[in-house]
Amino acid sequence: MRGEFLPFCRPSMGDEELAAVEEVLRSGWITSGPRVLKLEEEFRAFVGASHAVSSSSGTAGFHLALEALKLEEGDEVITPSLTWPSPVNMIEKVGARPVFADIDPRTLQLDPASVEARITSRTRVIFPVHFAGQSADLDALRELCREHGLRLLEDAAHAVGTRYRDRPIGSGESLAVFSFQAIKNLTCAEGGMVVTADAELAERMRLLRFHGVTRDAWKRNAAEDYDTSRREDYDVLEAGWKYNLTDIQAALACVQLRRQKELRARREVLAGLYDEALAGVPGIVRPARVSYPSRHAWHLYVVLVEPEVLGRTRNEFRDELKARNIGTGLHFLAVHRTTLYRELYPQYEGALPHTESVADRILSLPLFPDMTEGDVSDVVGAIREIS
Ligand SMILES: *Cc1c(COP(=O)(O)O)cnc(C)c1O
Repeated sequence: MRGEFLPFCRPSMGDEELAAVEEVLRSGWITSGPRVLKLEEEFRAFVGASHAVSSSSGTAGFHLALEALKLEEGDEVITPSLTWPSPVNMIEKVGARPVFADIDPRTLQLDPASVEARITSRTRVIFPVHFAGQSADLDALRELCREHGLRLLEDAAHAVGTRYRDRPIGSGESLAVFSFQAIKNLTCAEGGMVVTADAELAERMRLLRFHGVTRDAWKRNAAEDYDTSRREDYDVLEAGWKYNLTDIQAALACVQLRRQKELRARREVLAGLYDEALAGVPGIVRPARVSYPSRHAWHLYVVLVEPEVLGRTRNEFRDELKARNIGTGLHFLAVHRTTLYRELYPQYEGALPHTESVADRILSLPLFPDMTEGDVSDVVGAIREIS
C-alpha cells in the first residue's frame, strides 16, 4: 500500500511563481494595480475575448455578470444542478429564480433538450457549466438563445484550456466566468475573470467590482500616476461591491497563464494513463467524450462508481480509497438536493433523473500536473484491489 497520502489535487507552484510574488511584495504596491491590468490584457488575448474583467473569485464574477444583465425579480435562469452551489446562490442573490435542467448521463454536460423543455416566458439566461473541462454543447445552447432572445452566461470555472470547435471558451459573443481558485487549472489561490464581447457590460462590471466609484484606487495612487496635479476626484454612481483582485494574485496568475500549455499537456498525459488503465475495470465507468469538436482541459478526472457491480456505495468506495492513502473529490452533489434548495424548490426532487443518478455515483480521482506516473499506478492499483 502507498505510504504517503495522495491528495486529489495540489497546485503546481514553482520558482517562477515564488519570484513573481516576491517582486510584488517588494514593489510597494500590493493591491489592484499594474499587474491586474497586465493579467486582464494577457487573459483577454489568451481566450480571444474583447474584454476581460478580473474579480476576487469566480463567484464574485457570477455576481457581477448577473447584476450587469439586470435580471428582475422572478426572472428565470436555466442551469444544471450537477454543479458547485455558487452559480445557483448568485442567481438567488440577484433576485432571480434558478431553473434546473438535466444533464446528458454519458458526457455529464447540460442537455440542450432538457433546457429547451424548461424555457418559459420568464426565462432570461441559460447558464451552463463546461463540466470537468469538456465544453458544453454551445451551438445548441446558442441556437436556443437566439430563438428565444436569451443571454448565454457560461460557468467556465473548469474551462481554462478548453476549446469548442477550435476556439477557446470565452471567445466570441460569450459572457463567460473563469475561476482561479486553488484547485483550478490556473490558480492564484483565489480569483476570477469575466470575459465578454459587450463593452457596456464590461464597464458596468468594472464599476460594480469596486464600490461603484468611477476611479479605481490604484489609478489615483499608483506610482506611475503620482503626479498630484493630474489626480482626479472620484464619484459614486451605484452601490457596488469590493470584488477586486490584488496584484499579488495577478502576478501569480500571469505566471500560471504563461505555463498553461505545459500544465494542460501534463494533465492530458495523466488522463490518458487513467483511460488506459481503467478501461476494463468492472464497475468503474469513464464518462464519454462529447460528440462535437472540443478540446478537454482535464480539470477533473471523474468516474462513475457502479454500486450494483461493486457491491458498495460511492461513499464506501471513497472511504476504502482513503484507507489506502488515496484522496478523492466529489464534484458534485446535486444542488437541488441540498437543504436550502430542497426547501425552496421541492418540485425538482425526482425531476432530474440523470443528475440524481450521476451525483450518487460520481467520484473525482487525483489529477494535478505534479503527479507522477507512479501516483497514477497507485490509484489504479487501489481501485483494482477494491473492485
Ligand atoms: C470552483 C467553481 C466555481 C466557483 O469559483 P470560485 O472562484 O471558487 O468562486 C463555480 N463553479 C464551478 C463549477 C466550480 O468548480
